[in-house]
Amino acid sequence: MIRINDIYMPLGFTDEMLAARTAREIGVRPSDIHDLRLVRRSVDARKKNDVHFTIAVEASVKNEQYILRKFPPNKVSPAKHEKYTVNIAEERTHRPVVIGFGPAGMFAALILSQAGLKPIVLERGGDCDSRAAAVELYRTKGILNETSNIQFGEGGAGTFSDGKLTTGIRDRRITHIFSELVRFGAPAEILYSGKPHIGTDILRNVVKNLRNEIISLGGEVIFEAKAVGLTKTEGSVRSVIYEKNGVQTEIAADSVILAVGHSARDTFEYLLGEHIAMEKKIFAMGARIEHLQSDVNASLYGRFAGHPALPPADYKYAVHIPDGKSLYTFCMCPGGYVVAAASEKNTIVTNGMSLYARDAANANSALLVNVEPCDLADSSPLAGCELQRNVERAAFAAGGSDGSAPVITAGGFITGNLTPEFGKVKPSYTPSVKFALPDNILPDYITETIRKGLPMIAAKASFFADPEAVITMPETRSSSPVRILRGETLESVSLKGFYPCGEGAGYAGGIVSAAVDGMKCGEAVIENG
Ligand SMILES: Cc1cc2nc3c(=O)[nH]c(=O)nc-3n(C[C@H](O)[C@H](O)[C@H](O)COP(=O)(O)OP(=O)(O)OC[C@H]3O[C@@H](n4cnc5c(N)ncnc54)[C@H](O)[C@@H]3O)c2cc1C
Repeated sequence: MIRINDIYMPLGFTDEMLAARTAREIGVRPSDIHDLRLVRRSVDARKKNDVHFTIAVEASVKNEQYILRKFPPNKVSPAKHEKYTVNIAEERTHRPVVIGFGPAGMFAALILSQAGLKPIVLERGGDCDSRAAAVELYRTKGILNETSNIQFGEGGAGTFSDGKLTTGIRDRRITHIFSELVRFGAPAEILYSGKPHIGTDILRNVVKNLRNEIISLGGEVIFEAKAVGLTKTEGSVRSVIYEKNGVQTEIAADSVILAVGHSARDTFEYLLGEHIAMEKKIFAMGARIEHLQSDVNASLYGRFAGHPALPPADYKYAVHIPDGKSLYTFCMCPGGYVVAAASEKNTIVTNGMSLYARDAANANSALLVNVEPCDLADSSPLAGCELQRNVERAAFAAGGSDGSAPVITAGGFITGNLTPEFGKVKPSYTPSVKFALPDNILPDYITETIRKGLPMIAAKASFFADPEAVITMPETRSSSPVRILRGETLESVSLKGFYPCGEGAGYAGGIVSAAVDGMKCGEAVIENG
């Protein structure tokens, strides 16, 4: 079986057209090709007068060795199918404990269960269904549940997301993660889409199915169970203490994976107090911008906008401000919503999500500026968390202290003048928004970078010049401001048997890289014994 890359296909192509084109590309007859399978499909919209798909396929072809010799390896190569396997581990005195059931904790617990180690998972938030009710209450009435919300609960921060599965990392585990997600109910197209996404509506079922698999293999998932303490003996972890319904329970454990995400500020504070080594790390803050999705489509797809074969257009931009910082877009959600993503009372936090269909009127993305450790005056490893919290509280006050998010048009943001009226773009944030200037919310260098950077992005993408685009503030939780230090065995440098994992510990950014890191920590627990 061989893989054939870079096949140009028009929008709306059929299987027959793909088979014929593949044959032509490698100079064989269509009848010489068998078991043709799509393995990659990306939209190429670089030329507005020629928007098309770029395809890769795998197939069995007559005289494969001859064809492999005839074409360069970037065009034709042997198909590779690495299988990821989990071996059954030897029985242990204690079951491993996984703290947190986001992508990192889920995939760590999944492979530990598959190795027969029957992990115990502690998740501070509720299961998907009760969590969805809590998120809905906050979305519609502004009543925040600090235990279950967009950050905390089954599936972690990604459950109420766009479910984008794009990642900057390369790792052999990614193919396995995708096939596991499909096994648990994700659309099969994530296996070949150039920009795979699941959508929050489908993701919730995927998460439940994954949990059921862990339980069916002997694992246990305890919801509304917040890890509040660790005990140690001679530099190794001895037990974990968790609290559920006001009652504390101790579990003896010598392997503990900490996958608590970037919003577990109280857990970070506890660990710092226990002298677990951690440091400040680079993170980012800014705001969410919304445009009409139809304007984004028109700008990026030209006359092809609206073609039924095309997904809603997405984008990614970065600009460097002369003598200053960089502004970049992040976590773009086509046809989605800006969501209320706070986990602490009297704060406002934004983020973005979308359904599988991505059919809402607005496109949104975060406009982010990096915050370097040297930008933080305080030397504490948790100085970044403190800055996030201050910004989130300032936003709450600027929104009128009633749960409204501060909002401004892009034109108003750039000129510094509030025009208290929306144009064609209406904010999707609920339950309410209030017009406010950014100056009392975001640090000056972030406001200035967004002010100067927006026209620079507009020079690359016309829809960004729209003064009626809406900016909702602030976006503070795009990445973790802290890293919990670990050594070669992936254990904390301060505590043996304790594995800081995923985004909160500073080793991932996004669903896929968090899941990869969860698997790495699970493998380490299996190997280290
Ligand atoms: C609204 C939104 C949209 C997003 N969209 C995308 C996207 O489209 N694509 C993408 O790649 N990324 C997206 N992200 C980011 C992505 O969700 C995170 O990168 C990812 O979830 C990190 O995984 P994690 O397992 O490390 O941590 P998390 O997902 O944050 O999971 C940590 C879990 O630990 C639990 N926990 C915390 N403290 C404790 C404790 N003391 N005891 C027990 N449990 C605890 C939390 O309740 C939480 O469930 C989005 C995030 C949000 C909030």
